[in-house]
Amino acid sequence: EQSQETHEFQAETGRLMDILINSLYTQKEIFLRELISNAADALDKIRFLSVKNPEILGEKTELAIRIEINTEEKSVSVTDSGIGMTKNDLISNLGTIAKSGTTQFIEAIKGGNVNLIGQFGVGFYSCFLAGQKVTVASKNGDDDDQYIWESQAAHSFAVSKDPRGNTLGRGTQVTIHLKQDAVEFAEESTIRELIKKYSEFINFPIYLKVTREVSKQVEEEGEQQDQQDTNDDDEVKVKDDDDDADTKKKATKTIKEKVSEWVQVNENKAIWLRPKEEISDDDYKKFYKVLSKNSGEDPFNWVHFKAEGEVEFTSLIYIPKRAPSDMFDNYYGKQTTNLKLYVRRVLISEEFEDILPRYLSFVKGVIDSDELPLNVNRETLQQLKMLKVISRKINCFKILLLMMMKMKKKQRKEKKMIIWQKLLLRNNRDQKMRKEKRRLMNIMNFGKNMERILNQELLKILLIDKNQLNQQGIIIYTILRNMFIMMTTLIWIINRFISIYQMIYINSRLIQHISKLLLSIYQISLYLIFYFRWYSSKNSTELTSFDDYIERAKPGQDSIYYLAGENKEQLLASPIIQGLIKKGYEVLLLDDPVDEFTFQHLNEYKQKKLVNVGKGDFKQPEDNDEQRKKQKALKKVFQPLTDWWRKLLSENVDSVVISQRLIEDPIIVVSSESGYSANMERISKAQAY
Ligand code: ADP
Ligand code: MG
Repeated sequence: EQSQETHEFQAETGRLMDILINSLYTQKEIFLRELISNAADALDKIRFLSVKNPEILGEKTELAIRIEINTEEKSVSVTDSGIGMTKNDLISNLGTIAKSGTTQFIEAIKGGNVNLIGQFGVGFYSCFLAGQKVTVASKNGDDDDQYIWESQAAHSFAVSKDPRGNTLGRGTQVTIHLKQDAVEFAEESTIRELIKKYSEFINFPIYLKVTREVSKQVEEEGEQQDQQDTNDDDEVKVKDDDDDADTKKKATKTIKEKVSEWVQVNENKAIWLRPKEEISDDDYKKFYKVLSKNSGEDPFNWVHFKAEGEVEFTSLIYIPKRAPSDMFDNYYGKQTTNLKLYVRRVLISEEFEDILPRYLSFVKGVIDSDELPLNVNRETLQQLKMLKVISRKINCFKILLLMMMKMKKKQRKEKKMIIWQKLLLRNNRDQKMRKEKRRLMNIMNFGKNMERILNQELLKILLIDKNQLNQQGIIIYTILRNMFIMMTTLIWIINRFISIYQMIYINSRLIQHISKLLLSIYQISLYLIFYFRWYSSKNSTELTSFDDYIERAKPGQDSIYYLAGENKEQLLASPIIQGLIKKGYEVLLLDDPVDEFTFQHLNEYKQKKLVNVGKGDFKQPEDNDEQRKKQKALKKVFQPLTDWWRKLLSENVDSVVISQRLIEDPIIVVSSESGYSANMERISKAQAY
């Protein structure tokens, strides 16, 4: 006798289902994607276990996903030979929500991005978008029986032993009995398209059962003939007489018969193992969809590379368009990565520490190596030396550099780089070479270039939503700068040794690596500075570069003026710059907090000093003798007034002076030259936590 237990959904789950059904009803189709993704997860789990213990697979060695449509009953089922669920698993996995998924998910839905469902551990419940009833049959690999979980949403589900017995062997079958308004999912073409759309790069074969009508010819006497794959509609047909001696001149009858067969719909070869030339941008984007659990957005960019040498591995890393909302949690809390580690196509781990520095926790991707031991424990993974090497090889610099390179339209001047490299490495007495070498070292000039590389563009690449992420940007900046200074110092010392003590043995490969890196950074920094753009007082609708600015500058102007603040409208109206504008000078308006930071470190561009007009020490240009005299006189006349002011405000201001810069406004408060500018102060206040 079958006993059926009825369970209530956890309160949260019930609430979530209501919200789901009401808010996602226009996107019913995502249920298929979520089911396939769960099936693939279950398959990943069993494959991982089978590595250590191949017997675990038993007779069910095929790891695949099978989708079947029942047009009469209007149902779809997704079957996997994955790890399966015991009775208790069914109750706890499909009746409660792990993590605190609901609240977060509800927030996300409010934000309008319903596609995020898969990321909150609530994907399964999307079944009820299309299904009025959902049946899950599952069999775990061990001795447990096969159980059925069934629910019509509402508030409860029932669990019972499967009366059919152990039909699955191992795995799970989810059957969706479609609602009246979702019957389109009982159509083969719809399902096929959905698989293509969402699950093309799932790492297991996805088979769809397709049913075709086949005309079968039977001899009138009833003798069987070979089946023919035609959809010939002719009822009766006289066969061509020359073909076959046996059937010669015999009339045959055509009857229609339904034939079903499994057809693989997806391309399940791991995309990262395919040669780059064969992968289209579209493929990369599709795979990102799978990887990011369908965040619904294309990636910003990606890096696909094969490392050789010490450890060979392939890596495909994506930079998302948007920084994840929990990036800072990740930064200060437990460190995890979004990199999946595969060993020979087996997913070993999705979460492991230390492979990437914290500030890159937002990248997503896969690493696949044939060299790691397959039977590695998730726990011991961390201690593997090999992993350390991998981590070193996919270090942030590589990712950053490759990202930047990718931004370049043409890989120009590559040749020149090689020559420089040689120059830097070759230790010969050739005068010319030495001179070149010295020149190069001068160009590099220690930390200067690193400060140049630190600019908007770099931060933009890393942190697309800058305003949200200034802090992260500054951390990256600091790290990059320190690294660069260290390396340039090192290479300078090494170089010194080479030229002075020729006999000293130096690990030339090390130098080679460092110099390669330095050169790349140098090139990129030069390239990037060219792309700096800001609003300016002369053109506040389009962006202006340094070069544009210089071109427009007044003759003899040796500075580039800038003012930083919250937005360009406010900046443009600022009394601080009215004097300059009236005199015909152009002022760059930095409306992004990162800009001011960058400017302070940039100092100058093409021998023009970058001058912050918002600071106290700012002197108006065109200060000739006569004006200075006039100024002095004024100062004297108003001395009593300024003294009085100073006394009055002694607690709040450093000094009170007569200003030249004001045009219409009578008075202005500015930052002292040594202190933070008002804008920086605002930023640091905003960042304090
Ligand atoms: P998530 O996949 O993010 O964990 P879901 O709501 O999609 O969240 O699934 C909930 C849980 O149900 C899964 O974590 C898994 O334990 C279990 N589950 C769902 N589908 C399957 C399946 N096909 N095979 C085995 N377990 C499954
Ligand atoms: Mg899921």
